[in-house]
Amino acid sequence: MRHVVVIGSGIAGLATAFEHHRRHPGDRVTVLEAADRVGGKLHTIDFAGHCYDMGAEMVLAVVPDALDLIDAVGLSADIVHPCTTSASIVVNGRHHPIPIGTVLGVPADVDDLVGSELFSPASLDRMRAEPDAPGPGLTDDESVGGFLRPRVGDEVVDLMIEPLLGGVYAGRADALSIKATMPALAEGLRREHSVLRAAASVRRKPGAGPVFATLREGLATLAQALVEFSGAEIRLGTTVRAIRRTAGGYLIECGPFPAATLIQADAVVIAVPAPNAARLLRPLVAQAAEALSVIPMASMAILSLAWTGPQPGLPEGSGLLVPPTAGGLVKAVTISSNKWPHLAGPEVLVRASVGRVGEEQALQRSDAELLAAAGKEVAQLLTLSGTPYAGAVTRWGGGLPQYTVGHLDRVATVRSAVAEFPGMAVAGAAYDGVGVPACIRSAYAAVDALGS
Ligand SMILES: Cc1cc2nc3c(=O)[nH]c(=O)nc-3n(C[C@H](O)[C@H](O)[C@H](O)COP(=O)(O)OP(=O)(O)OC[C@H]3O[C@@H](n4cnc5c(N)ncnc54)[C@H](O)[C@@H]3O)c2cc1C
Repeated sequence: MRHVVVIGSGIAGLATAFEHHRRHPGDRVTVLEAADRVGGKLHTIDFAGHCYDMGAEMVLAVVPDALDLIDAVGLSADIVHPCTTSASIVVNGRHHPIPIGTVLGVPADVDDLVGSELFSPASLDRMRAEPDAPGPGLTDDESVGGFLRPRVGDEVVDLMIEPLLGGVYAGRADALSIKATMPALAEGLRREHSVLRAAASVRRKPGAGPVFATLREGLATLAQALVEFSGAEIRLGTTVRAIRRTAGGYLIECGPFPAATLIQADAVVIAVPAPNAARLLRPLVAQAAEALSVIPMASMAILSLAWTGPQPGLPEGSGLLVPPTAGGLVKAVTISSNKWPHLAGPEVLVRASVGRVGEEQALQRSDAELLAAAGKEVAQLLTLSGTPYAGAVTRWGGGLPQYTVGHLDRVATVRSAVAEFPGMAVAGAAYDGVGVPACIRSAYAAVDALGS
């Protein structure tokens, strides 16, 4: 019997514990978590009488990882799909529906954009000509903006791709790696030099089932179910300070110095955000720590706001994206009561997102100030009358890693350096994608790496 210690109880840590237990039920698994609850960015609160997600709010349903895990812990009956996913982009105060058929905002067919007032005729002409005169193919990694601006123009990058990347990564198109943040498009670009043709070759076929899903009582219920099904011992309020190598495994030092607790482990999985993983790895695997420590982190806050209904001016659709050029505080608004069947009601429930990488000053206000300022902006954007009758704020300092140019090489460096240490592995949002399904995949890779 081995003793496996997992550091961090976000989705990556809990999926690691679950999967290790499933494959090796005889082993003992302990999860060490600094906070006083499990789940990390899976965080559901009771808001205006609803279970409301203040971290991740949904999972991709077009890849199997999250839904399969939900099924494995018996929560399939709680899966809910959005009533609508049609969002709009706000430019000069006007709402422009996001054209369908794009790959993270990258157009596959100019005809899909015709009629959208987002784009000038010159921009449409340029895109129409792109397949016949494509730029050089994608070889070395480049930024999304750096590669796409000369090929599809600034309007597409600034008005469509930027707000979508801002939603997923809280990051900027001119810094994020095209290979790491748009892997499907990058794959298409290996076969096709034309951006539009590459996007057409990888875009999802229409009508292929729901793209997103969530759980009726919030995604934190997945974290709780994983705790139950993993058979792991969970130690909350336990911050890991250091990992030392011993003859037979690892000695994990946790709790306050000098009265630290020492835990002996045969194997250890580090499933914490990049800066925390860098700190833990530095004395042991300096090369991995170095690669992790250069990953920038974006901070953000999620605000939930509730207005009494009915609100006749409320737009249809799932919400709005506000490009950085608009200069507002709020970068995205989800109209939860439009989007999710289980949150529909007479009241209007809104999830507003504030903060992109490098814009930390936007968050340097009290919760009350943030709620007041965002409430005013959201009311204007959604033509809501009155003030919100309830509001809540969750801050995510350093919440999202930025997959900047060269990210895939950094991840390869971390994994190969850590692989030199038998019984040690890493998992989490820093590696294979920030979304919940990608974190689950990274957990399974960590279990593979520990071996049997
Ligand atoms: C606001 C926001 C909205 C998002 N929305 C979505 C979405 O809708 N869909 C989606 O798929 N993804 C979404 N994401 C991304 C996704 O939620 C996260 O990338 C993912 O949940 C991260 O999981 P993780 O296990 O890697 O890390 P975390 O959830 O960050 O968990 C790491 C855990 O490690 C603990 N920890 C840290 N250091 C130590 C230490 N030294 N000792 C012990 N414990 C430690 C932390 O307390 C934390 O609980 C969102 C992210 C944010 C921030």
